[in-house]
Amino acid sequence: DPPYTADVDAAVGALIGAIVAGVAAFWLGRRSAANDLARLREQNRRTEEALGERAEASLEARRVRDRILGSMQDGVILFDGDRRTAFANEHVDELLGARPESLAHVFPVALREAVRRAAESRMPEVAELEIGTPSRWLRATASPAGPDGSVVVVVADVTEARRLDVVRRDFVANASHELKTPVASIQAAAETLLDVWQEDPEAVPRFAGQLEREAIRLSRIVADLLDLSRLESGSELDDEVHLDAIVREETERFADAAETVGLHVHVDAPAVPIVRGSRKDLSLLVRNLLDNAIRYTKAGGTIDAAVGAEDGWVVLRVADTGIGIPTKELPRVFERFYRVDRARSRETGGTGLGLAIVKHVSENHGGSVRVRSELGRGTTFDVRLPRADGV
Ligand code: ADP
Repeated sequence: DPPYTADVDAAVGALIGAIVAGVAAFWLGRRSAANDLARLREQNRRTEEALGERAEASLEARRVRDRILGSMQDGVILFDGDRRTAFANEHVDELLGARPESLAHVFPVALREAVRRAAESRMPEVAELEIGTPSRWLRATASPAGPDGSVVVVVADVTEARRLDVVRRDFVANASHELKTPVASIQAAAETLLDVWQEDPEAVPRFAGQLEREAIRLSRIVADLLDLSRLESGSELDDEVHLDAIVREETERFADAAETVGLHVHVDAPAVPIVRGSRKDLSLLVRNLLDNAIRYTKAGGTIDAAVGAEDGWVVLRVADTGIGIPTKELPRVFERFYRVDRARSRETGGTGLGLAIVKHVSENHGGSVRVRSELGRGTTFDVRLPRADGV
């Protein structure tokens, strides 16, 4: 029956169509589910990656923080709102002797009080504290660090700064005193001159002579002070210096003065390796050593000036057979204005600054100076300077 057949055919066709569509939909559906899953996985991976990066970033931030706080010379402590130690770098141990668990464990008490005041007033507090034996000076700054009452404390060791301060104050006092003496003499001589120049003309040259001597002394002190202050900010190391040539020049310059006072001067200055530095300052160094050797050696004595090379160094030696320096005074002779015998130094035109200048020049050149002496036998100064070729 054809109509039936046609119907069946149509039905079968529709069924097949439906099945194909179903299968297709099934396959497509599976693919889209797979896609969703892949998308989810990708999202998940990205989230994990972002989290990892954030964790890494926060770790890195902490590493940076620890590196900064760890490399600081100062101690840093953070006290939280409950006065417990939330953070302390390692220098706190060195400076305070231990890492305090909380503010109550902080010594000295003055520091604890400063932190309390900073937390209460919400204003920075500064305290200077002396601790330990031998005593050291600490400077602590406590600053409020947030609305919860936490406080950051920065502790610095200021012992050396304080010491330098004392040295500077002593130096100013000494320098003023040294300048006052010739100034007073000049004033006195000038006043006397005014008084005598008419009534007693024969006395005039005597007081004029005194005036001149004191003026020379004054200008010598001022010149040495200026040299010293210039040397404190370093030497200009621009020249290629032949130390042997300097020694020959300077001994030549002193030859007449030495002969006049009956001294024998021996010079041993073969060509030595070049020193990089300041020709002017190294001449000043040699001049000061020779000047001292001549001033502190009696007639008939000998002065030896020699240069040579030793390992990586150029060595200068100035030795005399003079009055010598007592052993216990040796460590102090390089100090500014220090003299073993003040009267003798003054009589011979010393300023007390010569060896301080020698030390500064040596150290500015990366070298050193040493002294050996025997009372009544003589004194030897050894200056070592690094040779420029670095051998
Ligand atoms: P001054 O101008 O008094 O010589 P210096 O700084 O040059 O000052 O020397 C400090 C002190 O060291 C001198 O006052 C002196 O007592 C001692 N001194 C320096 N050089 C010699 C030396 N060659 N022989 C003996 N004493 C010396």
